[in-house]
Amino acid sequence: MGHFNNFKVTVYCVSSILQNMDLETLEKQYEFIEKYVGLDKVYLEPYRGSHWVEKDKIREIAKFFKDRNVEVSGGLTTVVPDLSDEDKDKQRLFDTFCYTNPKMREHVKKVSEYCAELFDEVILDDFYFTNCTCEECIKAKGDRSWVDFRKDLMKDVSENLIVGPAKKINPNIRMIIKYPNWRESYHATGYRPDVEKDIFDKVYTGTETRASAYQDQHLPTYLSYSLPRWMDDASEGRNQGTWFDTYQCWPIDDYLEQGYLSAFGKPEEITLFQWTDLYENKLVTPLGLQFSRIDKMLDKTGKPVGIPAYIPYASQGENHVEDFLGMQGIALYPTTVFPGEGSVLVTESSLYDKDIFGKLKAFMMAGGKVFVTPGFVAKAPEDEWREISSAYLTGRKLSVTRYYKTDDPAGYLEDVSPVSFADIQHSNNLSWSLLNGGAGEYHSTLFLKDTYGKGKLFLVNVPENPSDLSKIPGWAMDAVKQEFNYDGIYVTAPDVSIFHYDNGTFILYAHVTDHAHPVRATIHIQSENAKLLQYFAPWTPSGEKEIELTAKSMRYDLKRVTEMTGEVILNPGEFYEFKVTKE
Ligand SMILES: [Zn+2]
Repeated sequence: MGHFNNFKVTVYCVSSILQNMDLETLEKQYEFIEKYVGLDKVYLEPYRGSHWVEKDKIREIAKFFKDRNVEVSGGLTTVVPDLSDEDKDKQRLFDTFCYTNPKMREHVKKVSEYCAELFDEVILDDFYFTNCTCEECIKAKGDRSWVDFRKDLMKDVSENLIVGPAKKINPNIRMIIKYPNWRESYHATGYRPDVEKDIFDKVYTGTETRASAYQDQHLPTYLSYSLPRWMDDASEGRNQGTWFDTYQCWPIDDYLEQGYLSAFGKPEEITLFQWTDLYENKLVTPLGLQFSRIDKMLDKTGKPVGIPAYIPYASQGENHVEDFLGMQGIALYPTTVFPGEGSVLVTESSLYDKDIFGKLKAFMMAGGKVFVTPGFVAKAPEDEWREISSAYLTGRKLSVTRYYKTDDPAGYLEDVSPVSFADIQHSNNLSWSLLNGGAGEYHSTLFLKDTYGKGKLFLVNVPENPSDLSKIPGWAMDAVKQEFNYDGIYVTAPDVSIFHYDNGTFILYAHVTDHAHPVRATIHIQSENAKLLQYFAPWTPSGEKEIELTAKSMRYDLKRVTEMTGEVILNPGEFYEFKVTKE
């Protein structure tokens, strides 16, 4: 029996620390991690670059863990120092392999075989990419694009140098490929979940979002939830876990949020990287407590669900716009699978599907709701786009200081802090704007409706800087959320995400931002006979209670609508669980 009902907590141990590990030190470190986190499984790494760990050493450490009822698997990292003088000219990022070079190919095969002799399960850390542009690689590429060349190259390496040889040594071995947190660049560097899902037994997902603004990547916290969801679909349900680390996490909440959002997606495993980084590190000390509270919440949930954001394999463009929307309470989950019904968000990335317009039109003909971003409109073929909307981007930017809800005769909010949007024009009374943004005598649409067959198309004018979504007043965002929600439920509050499950439960999480303070949140339920139960709130862990709901009637999209609303106070860095029942 593990420490938690809903997931295993595992820790990855790199070869450089295992090489010189003595059992006394290991015991001390184990006690710390067991006390503050709760350890169910470890991944022991025999190889990384210039570090090889002797087989006897690995076996000794594996026994230490097995004696304490900790599961043991293996890991390897595909980096390598120069193997000969001729390698000096190769500009390999982080010492990743040149997979066209015969010596390096032989070396990586040896590494895989070595691990297969030791373990029945081996995970590859996310250095399994290639940026090599050496003479050998340029020659091998020939006339192909780098994307096509690296796709073929890594398929060959996976089949013939990693998985094939490992299975020859150990036919029962399960090989896992861990994908990095930078999905938008996978295809550029040879990472191909569409190909590799059929070669490896399982996949794994990096959820290291760290301090979004202050690290080399630019990953909104919501990615810790959304990328594993995408990977689940991309691997046809073979995502085994999530993985994050302690690096570049300021303040402490930036570390913990990676764990919370990883857990909300209900992975089988949550891996912490890496062993010695965790020891006597204050970042991890609240993790066991918080995991146990999340575990209790997850006991009551079903399968994670949300509005599909269609992000095909090997696509890029408007990267992470779906995550920025997720940070502001749009319950999105990115997927490689275009849905059959309901709602879907399409972004610039969706245009990598050459049949996207055929799919959108069929979806709307059947009554579906489509949400599109300005990036999609900007890059869509004009004749195709004109079939479904009159809107177009003028190319100018508009600094918005006034919001106007067109359904509210007094729905104006003036002199708010400026946000830059794309200026969008459309044929009035052919398309209908539900929310306008303006300044001076001018305004543009921020949320525009078109109709097609039985369906609808909404253009969501995401700010030029998608992070500025957090600057749009909640009152104005509601005009978007009234349509752009999952299951008729949305919440008015800044920087609050909502995570839905298929049994009517949902979790609210108030992100820790520069303005960390409690916020009053309004939960809206678009059903007149709904009940709202609070299952979990901090400091009252067993205090299940009913939230009082008030009926609110208003005009929206030229019709009268009624919602039930309830008020709650949310503290930053805390999570809350609710259940809606509709009669
Ligand atoms: Zn090369």
